[in-house]
Amino acid sequence: MKKTIAVIGGGVTGLTAAFRLKQAGQEVTLFEAGERAGGVIRSVQRDEWLAECGPNTMLETSAAITRLVEDEDLGIAQLRRDASPLGGTRFILKKGKAVMLPGSPAGFLTTSLFSFSAKLGLAMEPFRSRLAADADEESLADFVRRRLGQEFLDYAINPFVAGVYAGDPENLSVKYGFPKLYALEQKYGSMIKGQILGARQRRKEGRVTKDRAKQLSFDGGLQVLTDALADYLAGALRLNTAVIRLAKTEDGRWLLESEKGMVADFFDEVVLALPAYRLAELKFDHAGNPAGDELALDSLKEIVYPPVSSVVLGFRRDQVQHSLAGFGTLNPEVEKVNTLGTLFTSSLFPERAPEGHVLLTTYVGGARSPDLALRPEDERVHLVMEDLRKIYGITGEPVFEHSFLYPRAIPQYEVGYGRFLETMQDFEAKHSGIHLAGHCRDGISLADSIVSGEKMVEKLSAK
Ligand SMILES: Cc1cc2nc3c(=O)[nH]c(=O)nc-3n(C[C@H](O)[C@H](O)[C@H](O)COP(=O)(O)OP(=O)(O)OC[C@H]3O[C@@H](n4cnc5c(N)ncnc54)[C@H](O)[C@@H]3O)c2cc1C
Repeated sequence: MKKTIAVIGGGVTGLTAAFRLKQAGQEVTLFEAGERAGGVIRSVQRDEWLAECGPNTMLETSAAITRLVEDEDLGIAQLRRDASPLGGTRFILKKGKAVMLPGSPAGFLTTSLFSFSAKLGLAMEPFRSRLAADADEESLADFVRRRLGQEFLDYAINPFVAGVYAGDPENLSVKYGFPKLYALEQKYGSMIKGQILGARQRRKEGRVTKDRAKQLSFDGGLQVLTDALADYLAGALRLNTAVIRLAKTEDGRWLLESEKGMVADFFDEVVLALPAYRLAELKFDHAGNPAGDELALDSLKEIVYPPVSSVVLGFRRDQVQHSLAGFGTLNPEVEKVNTLGTLFTSSLFPERAPEGHVLLTTYVGGARSPDLALRPEDERVHLVMEDLRKIYGITGEPVFEHSFLYPRAIPQYEVGYGRFLETMQDFEAKHSGIHLAGHCRDGISLADSIVSGEKMVEKLSAK
């Protein structure tokens, strides 16, 4: 049966949901508060330079990603660009130098990144007992200290978490923030045993493991995808329309109110694909509810979104001593530098810088140092240059510069996050016809967001 559906929030989650629902023959309207769709995805082309402000690559961890990229209605398959194989090489900052992360067991035995006792600690991991099922929820840091030791926390997990969440492992929940890691211990009693046995199982089932998944983007950057989704939706996309209130009518449909006034249409179903701090502000009203408006998702305002600033800088190749032969470097907190890490953008996608030049993308802020992200732009560039000069031997000034601030970037799935997931589930049970999707519920990566948007089609079609 054809339904009228409102999707609220035009980031990649809402765009994917609206796109698939429209393809399925539903009557969809997508409401986006901003003057453009795409959410945090933002690619900026200037002369021969291409800067990504937000996400740089998406991991092809699910067939849903491949299907979307290849969908004929989007017509962007020929613009797909896989990151160079150099992307398999990653560096970690240690004693001020970018040290290559070992890519094989033999490399691990000889790397200078970890001491002999840390390596021994890793070898002992399968023999450590698992946490009791009734124990308190653990932070990622406690989990890693218990299973692998402090050095792994400092030089592997802390920088990794800075790279993915811009987060702090002392606060993040292993259960909700890293459910696969958590499940390995629960299921196999060991991360290492679980990795080996689980990978075998996934290969048998033909599933792609994260470490083997391709990192992809497009000629023109990731915004090519969100622009194509927005183009397909065209007349169904209402920009500059921030929804603030939803009211249920006597016949069970939903009416929306935006900052500009009531929206004329009635909707059978509503998909909310918004950041948590915006969900928290929404007012809901049921027909016949004497209490009137209700801030049903108010508690979601407690979900922490630290600020992150991306600073994209271009140099002549001869200004940089380092080979930049890899994905980039992650900076552990114990190294006490200004920045979270740097991507070697033009090593992954050479066409993003003019001939004879290189492009680097550096992130500042996150849960580790939120105040640094909020400094004025020239100070942020200065902080980044201070690190780049020391780590990569860069001389002179950048020949290209683009900086962007996300005042509230990525939700932190901290210890206790389960209570927010419960709130969302209870809310859906109570407000039939409204569905929640996106990065504060289904995982923080771009791939997670796309899968979350796709899921809406199954969910709404099954009704
Ligand atoms: C700096 C940064 C770097 C990242 N790097 C990577 C990476 O390399 N790889 C990766 O996989 N992921 C990365 N991510 C994460 C990934 O980009 C996000 O998880 C994903 O894009 C989230 O999409 P979304 O649609 O759920 O949310 P958003 O992109 O936040 O979209 C939500 C939309 O809702 C709109 N909105 C808000 N309020 C209202 C309202 N009341 N009414 C209507 N519309 C409203 C907003 O304007 C926005 O457009 C990064 C994120 C950031 C911030």
